[in-house]
Amino acid sequence: MKIIAKKTAASNYKKGYPILSSNLINYDYQHEDQGKIVQLLDDKGHFIANAYIGLENKGLGWVFSTNKSQMLDNAFISKKLNAAITKRTNFFNDTLTNAFRLFNGYGDGIGGITVDYYAGYLLINWYNEGIYKYRDLFIQNLIFLVEPKGIYQKFRFKQENYLADDEHIYGQKTPESFFILENGIKYCVDFEDGNMVGIFLDQRHVRKMLTSNFSQGKTVLNTFSYTGAFSIAALAGSAKSTTSVDLAKRSLPKTTDNLKINNFATDQEEIIVEDVFNYFKYALRKEHVFDIAILDPPSFAKSKKRSFSVLKDYSDIVQMITPLVAKNGYIIASTNNSQLPLEKFKYMVEKGIVDHNRSFEIKQIFRLPPDFSVNSAYPQGNYLKVILLKLD
Ligand code: SAH
Repeated sequence: MKIIAKKTAASNYKKGYPILSSNLINYDYQHEDQGKIVQLLDDKGHFIANAYIGLENKGLGWVFSTNKSQMLDNAFISKKLNAAITKRTNFFNDTLTNAFRLFNGYGDGIGGITVDYYAGYLLINWYNEGIYKYRDLFIQNLIFLVEPKGIYQKFRFKQENYLADDEHIYGQKTPESFFILENGIKYCVDFEDGNMVGIFLDQRHVRKMLTSNFSQGKTVLNTFSYTGAFSIAALAGSAKSTTSVDLAKRSLPKTTDNLKINNFATDQEEIIVEDVFNYFKYALRKEHVFDIAILDPPSFAKSKKRSFSVLKDYSDIVQMITPLVAKNGYIIASTNNSQLPLEKFKYMVEKGIVDHNRSFEIKQIFRLPPDFSVNSAYPQGNYLKVILLKLD
């Protein structure tokens, strides 16, 4: 099958842009095309690259080779996985950290799939049905190359045709109380509780900073806290106290589990199950202030009273949290939204602070850590943006 790139898009594809987007190509998507290999051509019929069809939120498929005869065959998949594993040798040898991204989709040469390593177990995320058709090749090669204790999978596409497929697909199941190590700190992981498994490995650098002397003796407000991972990291860094706020009921038992497994006193950590927007009002009324305030909202959040979108409303939450930040305190503002460029995000964060007439300095900006490989032809793949600001 052949697909023609639109005239204006051909030069982008020639430079390595990897996503088959409906606005960049002439192609009517058909469900039965999922997994098919297509030749992407320019409007003069010249070959640009081979791609596979796979419908996901990013587009209609991924380019994977500029070699016309290259298929998604065993040799190719094995080569890409092997290269990704070799690149992570330092992670395999690290005795204090045993969880990391092993294969980062297009950053490691094939879009639509990620593989994470968690203390001897693998978790595969399939982002479209096209790549899932090649699952046996991926799974067999991973078993051969990594010799994992067990493998789990998550479906990040509507898996109507594969509803009966299990999430546990190979080897042992994880033990009842399962945790990983990161910089010597334990974090509980649960593969059987939805797509979020307890820890976001891409925030490792931010947790590392919190564990360093940065947090020492400080009070920390962790909003959108989920399992409290940032709070745990700060406590490991001798924070004076942490306050974790999340709307989801599960955040209380899950954060408590993380405290217990690290032998932290539960009275150092306040866990509040509450809408952050209510919490902000309450804390303002009570004149609570914190030395470090963390904001890590999901791209979209809906609560009873309001909906929130990172793309539109980030300034608002910075505006709400700023009065809760002590003199010379810090804000850590994070987003994983790939559609929000760093400059625009910076502007939104700064605007929220300036509204209070407080001056500030950007101290550090974190992007994805090295195990989350990014391909320079697709810089949006470096979706994580975390800004550390110091306020006056
Ligand atoms: N910072 C976390 C990850 C946050 S995930 C970490 O590093 O692990 C986003 C979290 O925001 C989810 O746990 C979700 O329950 C929570 N959330 C979404 N809307 C919210 C709201 N209005 N108030 C409080 N928490 C909210």
